Amino acid sequence: MSTIIYDSPIFGPVHSRRLGISLGINLLPASGKICSFDCIYCECGFRKDRLTKDRLPTRAEVKEALSKKLISMASSNQIPQDITFAGNGEPTLHPDFYEIVKDAISIRDQYAPLASISVLTNGNHILNKKINEALLLVDNNIVKLDTVDMDYIRLVDRPNSSYDVNLIIKQLIKFGENCVIQSLFMTGEYKGHSVDNTSADYVLPWLETIMSIKPREVMVYTIDRDTPAKGLKKASQESLDAIVRKLEDQGIKASASY
Ligand code: SF4
Repeated sequence: MSTIIYDSPIFGPVHSRRLGISLGINLLPASGKICSFDCIYCECGFRKDRLTKDRLPTRAEVKEALSKKLISMASSNQIPQDITFAGNGEPTLHPDFYEIVKDAISIRDQYAPLASISVLTNGNHILNKKINEALLLVDNNIVKLDTVDMDYIRLVDRPNSSYDVNLIIKQLIKFGENCVIQSLFMTGEYKGHSVDNTSADYVLPWLETIMSIKPREVMVYTIDRDTPAKGLKKASQESLDAIVRKLEDQGIKASASY
């Protein structure tokens, strides 16, 4: 097995563990990864192995490709349950992200009105006003928060240097019901350090933060595909279920994908 890279600007439909039959919008080039994180578990691989100089798809190209794909799916009676901004990196890095989200909503309304629109974001740019506004327009604003421990974030998610989890949490509290939190749990080690975030030391402060955010839902999951870093292990189903129970005990809707 090896890491994967997606077509651009449209890929799929794919069957998502969390969103059902999902058509992907990839606002990054098909030839590499562009992200403000470089997670050691990223299914697209390490940034250094996926460097690209290709340009991003334009707003017009995304609009045309999405319309064409939905028309062709409708002609074969295939309706996506969801249209997700995801792919080879961080979708909110596209300079026309706000405008493209608005286009996608109007195209969805025209050709697949029952499909939800989701954005999978690492959360690094949610303090930007225009990105923030775009995320409030979609049905599922799904923000990554694997832990609240900055050392763990530096070791595992590896954001660019400006990332400050406390500022991100303040914005997530403002989102409240308008966001879904997505958190990856795993065990194993990387470069001699444990990357196990399933223990109480990590789960309890994270849970306390989730309770202050009050998101609409929390999706917990674990590694599903090959990872660029060796030594990472899936969290057990039992540990994911235990985290879900803790969330539900606090009245927070939660699901686990193993
Ligand atoms: S945020 Fe997502 S795309 Fe970016 S490195 Fe992490 S897993 Fe990969």
